[in-house]
Amino acid sequence: MGPHAHSGKRRGMQRDHYDQRRALPVAAPLGETVLLDVRGGAIRADRAVAALAGALGHRLVAAEVVSLHPGRDDVTVATSEGVWLARRAVVCAGVDTARIARGIGLELPIETGCQLRATYAVGEAVAGARLACLLDRRGPDASSYAAPCDDGRLYTVGLGSSEGELRSLRPTVAAQAPPRVAIQRTSQYVARVLPGLDPDPADVRLRWPAKLASTEDAFATWEQGPVTVFAGHNLFKFAPLLGAQLASP
Ligand SMILES: Cc1cc2nc3c(=O)[nH]c(=O)nc-3n(C[C@H](O)[C@H](O)[C@H](O)COP(=O)(O)OP(=O)(O)OC[C@H]3O[C@@H](n4cnc5c(N)ncnc54)[C@H](O)[C@@H]3O)c2cc1C
Repeated sequence: MGPHAHSGKRRGMQRDHYDQRRALPVAAPLGETVLLDVRGGAIRADRAVAALAGALGHRLVAAEVVSLHPGRDDVTVATSEGVWLARRAVVCAGVDTARIARGIGLELPIETGCQLRATYAVGEAVAGARLACLLDRRGPDASSYAAPCDDGRLYTVGLGSSEGELRSLRPTVAAQAPPRVAIQRTSQYVARVLPGLDPDPADVRLRWPAKLASTEDAFATWEQGPVTVFAGHNLFKFAPLLGAQLASP
């Protein structure tokens, strides 16, 4: 490689670094193999759920479904708030979907993982600025995902590598050991890769997504007479579209 090629490459790297600083000023130099999504952001889940629930109005009943009993042309739905005879039922109960499906004789290939998201305060110098989402597949913390929230005052980070450690945590079992190692590892990642954040987490959350064993981001339906069962991964953004399609006869 001659001197021109060298300086050309250096200029290119400086330019990359400049663009990265503009898109995500809380980050250390990231090299060439991360994805910065400048138009991405966290879904405002509370608002989305409130809007969808509001559209249903008084037709929405909050109840625990205890069991389903499909017949040939209808299905009996036994719940904590009453028993309904319905023409159809659509089951999408997140991590509980597999258990409910088993009750009507369907064995689904669903895996339940555990994801940890830790949220960090953005340093004063850039708090409130527009920050890109970061997808980082380099190194031992493969598949780290991070996104701004609270109008750029907080930044939330999840490491794909902590999913293995958290596998034994169950949503229904109380008094389990807190996931200290996974939190520590996330904060170490923040100190190294996102030094513009306060590495002491402001908030930590655990969530249990249902994944189809086949592929990341896959979703599928199963039918048992008048009952449709639906499950998959990363469904939130598709929910309004999928809900209407699944509910239509
Ligand atoms: C940290 C994290 C980040 C994510 N980021 C994204 C993202 O950026 N984009 C995206 O599209 N998706 C994302 N997802 C995934 C998305 O949140 C889920 O795919 C989606 O919420 C799944 O919807 P669901 O309705 O199948 O299950 P859930 O959202 O789990 O809802 C199931 C509901 O069923 C209820 N239920 C369960 N059992 C019963 C019963 N017996 N009777 C009555 N009700 C019952 C539960 O209380 C719950 O309200 C993320 C998930 C996690 C964990």
